[in-house]
Amino acid sequence: MPLCGQGDGHAQEVAPPEAPQRGAFAVRGARVRRSRPMQDMTDDAATILLVEDDPATRTFLADELTADGYELLVADCLRDGLRLLETKYPDLVVLDVGLPDGSGLELVRRTRAADRLADRIDPRIPLVVLSGRCSETDRLRSFERGADDVVAKPFSYPELRARIDALLRRCEGRARSGVVRVGPVELDPASRRVLVHGEPVHLSQKEFGLLRLLVSDPGRVFTKDELLRTVWGYATTGTTRTLDSHACRLRAKLAARGDRFVVNVWGVGYRFVDPPAGA
Ligand code: CA
Repeated sequence: MPLCGQGDGHAQEVAPPEAPQRGAFAVRGARVRRSRPMQDMTDDAATILLVEDDPATRTFLADELTADGYELLVADCLRDGLRLLETKYPDLVVLDVGLPDGSGLELVRRTRAADRLADRIDPRIPLVVLSGRCSETDRLRSFERGADDVVAKPFSYPELRARIDALLRRCEGRARSGVVRVGPVELDPASRRVLVHGEPVHLSQKEFGLLRLLVSDPGRVFTKDELLRTVWGYATTGTTRTLDSHACRLRAKLAARGDRFVVNVWGVGYRFVDPPAGA
């Protein structure tokens, strides 16, 4: 029975005895009264990364948030959470503290310590910590590491969602300052918008991922393995042929004025160059 935050196998996160089971049912019944997330209005649903090892809580939250119109990325350990954070560029992270391979606060720490241009993590992404430990000291520790909000388990889903909405609203302007510019190419990670010479260029998710990685270190040659692993993920079924065809399309889309920003380094990989190579 998927109750919020209960059934967690980690001893430090046992729900307090007054765990409000009734609250969990109230949560389910509340869906019809919810307003849709504002992201729906822009036809660009916010992507939430959920890092939670307890299967019941994870399934419950993933189902509810998906039903509320968010795109969900889901991980059950710290390592996978970090990988998704680095490769899928979510808009917000909800994470558990007690994970099997480390503390969720390590993800918070690494995120806040990230360099916006050199690293693939946006250091200002909103982070909501789910904590089974709800003492003041534990809450303070989360905030000190850089959490934007801390929600004690067991939690009320409507309240969690309200907090998520509030954070996303407040961070709407964040995208503007997260924009990466290399020469005439401008890339906005939050809205996934790309401009070349001020003209919008529509990229697929993978093409965007490729470009974002390449512009994170202009001039550097990224090997095909590295690109595949980062953009397609560790469990990739992609091949170098998949990569080559995406890179080819990306190069063509960016080349409205005949500029070649994406250069194939024969047999090795790709790099982003500015100034661009001639047509
Ligand atoms: Ca846990």
